[in-house]
Amino acid sequence: MTGPIPLTMTAPRRGKPPRHLADLSTDELRAAVAELGEQEFRARQLQTHYFTHLETDPAAMTDLPTRSRERLTEALLPSLLEPVRTLTADRGTTVKTLWRLHDGVKVESVLMRYPDRATLCVSSQAGCGMACPFCATGQLGLTRNLSAGEIVEQVRQAARAMVRGEIAGGPGRLSNLVFMGMGEPLANYKAVLAAVRRFVGPQPDGFGVSARNVTVSTVGLVPAIDRLAGEGLPVTLALSLHAPDDELRSELVPINTRWTVDEALDAARRYFEATGRRVSIEYALIRDMNDHAWRADLLARKLNERGRGWVHVNPIPLNPTPGSIWTASDPGVEAEFVTRLRVAGIPTTIRDTRGSDIDGACGQLAAEEAS
Ligand code: SAH
Repeated sequence: MTGPIPLTMTAPRRGKPPRHLADLSTDELRAAVAELGEQEFRARQLQTHYFTHLETDPAAMTDLPTRSRERLTEALLPSLLEPVRTLTADRGTTVKTLWRLHDGVKVESVLMRYPDRATLCVSSQAGCGMACPFCATGQLGLTRNLSAGEIVEQVRQAARAMVRGEIAGGPGRLSNLVFMGMGEPLANYKAVLAAVRRFVGPQPDGFGVSARNVTVSTVGLVPAIDRLAGEGLPVTLALSLHAPDDELRSELVPINTRWTVDEALDAARRYFEATGRRVSIEYALIRDMNDHAWRADLLARKLNERGRGWVHVNPIPLNPTPGSIWTASDPGVEAEFVTRLRVAGIPTTIRDTRGSDIDGACGQLAAEEAS
C-alpha cells in the first residue's frame, strides 16, 4: 500500500496507566510525596501499608491524618487492576484471575500453591508480539506493555490472597514469581526490572522476597539477556528453546531468525557465568515435531559443548491451544527424550503443569471472557 495509512488501520490507542507507588523507587516516591505537599516520611508509611500490609484502602491507614490519607492514596495508589473472573483447579490450589486494566485491556495471572511454596505466574504484556505458533498468547499479537505498577499489583493481590487464607490450604506466603504469563518480559525490560526490584526489595521498599525465587522466561532476546546479566540480581533465567536446530526453531520461535540457537545458548551461558544461577531450558514436547531422539542428542551436545553444571532442561508436554493441530508427545517418546538428556549428563525434570483444565497452563493464557 502507498500513501498514508488510514487511521482506522492503526492499532487502537491504549492509555498509559496512572502513576502508582509501585512504579517508583523509594527516592522517587519521596519526591512525589513532597510534591503533593506532604512530609517525606509519609512515603515510608505508605510503602509499609503497601508492601508489608499489602493494603491500599485509606481507611486502614490509621497512622496517617485523614486528609493526607485521601490525598496520598488518590495520587499514588490508583486502582490499576480489577478482577473480572477467577477460575480454580487442583482443589482450589490453582487460581487463574482475569484482570481488567484501566483502559479495558485484559490480562491473566495464575497462582499455584504447592506444599512447600506458592508461585505466581505473572503477565508482563497484554498479548505478545513473539508469534510462537503453539502458544495461545502468541496468536493475539501485542496490545501493549504493562507498567511496573500493573505487574506489581498482580503480585500484591496474590500475596494478599495468600496471607488472608483465601487460597485452599490456609494462610500462607507468596514465595515465588515467574514471568511465564502473557508476554515476552525482556521486550518490556524497564517495567519488568522495576517490578522485580519491588518484589525483591527489602521491606518496606519492596515485598522482601529472595531474587533466587524469581524466574524470567524469554524467547531469547540476546542483548536483553546480557543486560539482565549485568543487573546484579540473581534471578533465574529460563530460555524457551523448544528445538536445538535453527530450521525447526525458526518455525516454533520466530525470533530465532534474528538470534539463532547458538547465539541464544551462548547468551544463556554468559548469564550463568555472570550470576552463578543455573539456567533453565524450556522445551515443550510436541508430537512428531520436536520430540525426536536425535533432537534430544543434539540438544545435549550443544549444552555440554558449553560446559557442565550450568544448565538444566525442563521439558513440558505441550498444552493444547484452540485451533492448533499440534498435540503433546506420547509418554513413551517423552520418557525417551528425558532419558537421553540424563544419560548425557544433563539434569532434566519434566515441568509440572497446572491448570490446563481452566486454560491456565503454560501457553494457554488468552484473556478471553467467558462466553
Ligand atoms: N515469552 C516468554 C514467557 C511466556 S511463556 C517465553 O516465551 O519464554 C512461558 C513458557 O510457556 C515458555 O517456555 C513458552 O514457550 C511455554 N509455552 C507456550 N505455549 C505453550 C504450550 N502450548 N504448551 C506448553 N508450553 C508452552
